[in-house]
Amino acid sequence: MEFYRETGGAPLGGVVRTLGIGVPAAAVLGACYGFALNQIPFIHVAFFATLGVAVCGALLTAKLLKAGKIRSRPIAVILAAAIGLTTWYVAWAVDPVARFGWKNSPLAFDPVMLKNYWIFGYEKGLWAIPEHPITGMAAVACWVGEFLVLVVGQAAIALKSIDTVPFCERCSSWTKYLEPTYFAIGEGDGPLLDRLEGGDIRVLEQLLWFDFDAQPLDTYPRRLRVDVASCRSCQESNFLSVAQIEPRWENGKVVYHETELLKNLVITEAELAILLGCSDNKND
Ligand SMILES: [Zn+2]
Repeated sequence: MEFYRETGGAPLGGVVRTLGIGVPAAAVLGACYGFALNQIPFIHVAFFATLGVAVCGALLTAKLLKAGKIRSRPIAVILAAAIGLTTWYVAWAVDPVARFGWKNSPLAFDPVMLKNYWIFGYEKGLWAIPEHPITGMAAVACWVGEFLVLVVGQAAIALKSIDTVPFCERCSSWTKYLEPTYFAIGEGDGPLLDRLEGGDIRVLEQLLWFDFDAQPLDTYPRRLRVDVASCRSCQESNFLSVAQIEPRWENGKVVYHETELLKNLVITEAELAILLGCSDNKND
């Protein structure tokens, strides 16, 4: 069995473009966030603004990494961190101006000035829970939390979103997922699932394919979801993922649990035809 593996490729043009667009965009995002945060005097509410900015940054980062054809995890981490750090740093640099006005305070891009501003915030507090300014270690905890969300969280979301799609090295393009297909599984299908997990695609021919659009999904509560990522240019790069979905009764309601059986298994065109044949045959 052969599974998809990242080749670690990272074209220089893609790296330059990711930084060239990502860093200025992150600076603008950080400045907007820094000024907006000042309109929110309460720390509870500010947290949601931080989360929103991290998600925006992550979506942008993921788009740039994908457009730049970055398949190297370490380089993707460095690029995502550079973008997240820019947002975080600019947000802090504009904070004194946002809080005290242009007349009363300079931008704090200078690290020494920023350090002094942190000391000021540590002693006097910059945020509050109603009526009570947050100072000392509580303030530090908030700042660390903000850093983790803006930099670590942002990078983690961005990397997760480019993680699942395989790349066709032959055509130098990302593959695309076909519509998922579903197969019903019964109590006695355990051995078949073991064979499938071992890479035997023909097992799918013995399972009942069902049309998710025509039948409600809970017609067959125990089922397999089959995803194929396929290169649209060459049709030769095909990757199969299979997840087992099982309902469980939890706290008075049905919760569906997903177990991954196969993740991006390399399959041939012939094997892909078997899978597509499963749905075609039973459509007639
Ligand atoms: Zn291809």
